[in-house]
Amino acid sequence: MALLETEAIIIIEMPQGDTSKIIRVITRDYGKVSLIAKGARTFKSRFGGALEPLNVVNLVYYYKESRNLQLLSKCDIIQHYESIRSDLQKLAVGLSIAEILINLIMEEEPNEPLFNLVKLSLDSLEGTKKRYEMAYWYFLTRFLHISGFGMNVHNCQKCGKIRELLDIHFSISSGGILCNKCASKESVRRLSRETMQVLRQVLSQKLETLFNIKASQKTVKELTALFDAFYQYHFDGYKTPQALQLLNSVIVR
Ligand SMILES: [Zn+2]
Repeated sequence: MALLETEAIIIIEMPQGDTSKIIRVITRDYGKVSLIAKGARTFKSRFGGALEPLNVVNLVYYYKESRNLQLLSKCDIIQHYESIRSDLQKLAVGLSIAEILINLIMEEEPNEPLFNLVKLSLDSLEGTKKRYEMAYWYFLTRFLHISGFGMNVHNCQKCGKIRELLDIHFSISSGGILCNKCASKESVRRLSRETMQVLRQVLSQKLETLFNIKASQKTVKELTALFDAFYQYHFDGYKTPQALQLLNSVIVR
């Protein structure tokens, strides 16, 4: 049995028995890990409020290869994200990211770029005062990249032609836009020019810049639906995050 220490982000917390909790985290060094925090639900728990979802923490735990639930020894809060917790829309984005990680990431596969992406998305969300959905779209596009998927938004995915298109057709199965000719042979989604422009920006720009982009309500709806359909098609185990429905209901502003 080894004693491991690493930085982690808590993605879910669940009660276990009368006195304990189970947490799932993504760690900087060891990938996704499930841990039991014994006595965490007792009044005098040494873990205090450290086990809340989205907390960035420093973890110490006992690791044994033969078991799938590791034993938490110590958990100290590094970042509690006060602003995300006090704003329902920000919280919806944070928890939607957590749900994606719960459903799509394999356990114990180290992935530091993913850890850094989640941290950056939450840090930026904490600091911004507007356009929270950008943090979610930024996370989704970079997660695709890390997972080996691309979205081609510059030329026809089938024949490669670059041309100014009157209608924009996006093929979920091919992973990119299609010209009018190729689009007639496939099932495609029509996107507005504005949506395509915003998608290009989301794919190419830094998150801090994206918070300043203007997007109409129509574009917010189109892009949210596009990402949902894309993930649905390409990832086994993907479910539309429940927290996202909360975001959609308040996103009209
Ligand atoms: Zn084509």
